Amino acid sequence: MEVTLVQGDITEQRVDAIVNAANSSLMGGGGVDGAIHRHGGPEILQECRKLRAGHYGKGLPTGMAVATTAGRLPARWVIHTVGPVHSRSDDRSELLASCHVESLRVADELGAATVAFPAISTGIYGWPVDDAARIALDAVRGARTSVREVRFVLFDAVAYAAFETLL
Ligand code: ADP
Repeated sequence: MEVTLVQGDITEQRVDAIVNAANSSLMGGGGVDGAIHRHGGPEILQECRKLRAGHYGKGLPTGMAVATTAGRLPARWVIHTVGPVHSRSDDRSELLASCHVESLRVADELGAATVAFPAISTGIYGWPVDDAARIALDAVRGARTSVREVRFVLFDAVAYAAFETLL
């Protein structure tokens, strides 16, 4: 697997699947989630509603992932995953790693060969980006997957530098 880095907007990526830093409700939010629904159009939210009406009545648990189509986005699918809120007293690293491993598992099920990830949990959920970058890179490198390219799409220069240093 090739791991690549880009500074930019995840909604613009021409990959098979982009990963959404969603919240458990799957009903949209700020940050990456807001951008995906804004640019992708209402189709994605309609599919999320169906997921909530079906298997995920209580919402998507933290560390898990589920796919929808991508509406008007250049990608074919959106893989929604729920990152953990950062805590100083409670080590939630396993859950953050799980977001990456589960997203790649869903990508394999879809047959997606190229997948773009944002820096999950480093926005509203408050995770220090250096630490999140280490967990994310270790998780994707350690995952058993058929995905050929994992592209981390970092919104700002600080996040990009954190990933670049570790890569
Ligand atoms: P979380 O709730 O998991 O913290 P956020 O969406 O708030 O998720 O932020 C995750 C990271 O994604 C942050 O580093 C934020 O700067 C970045 N981000 C926000 N919008 C975009 C975007 N359109 N493309 C890529 N990254 C983005």
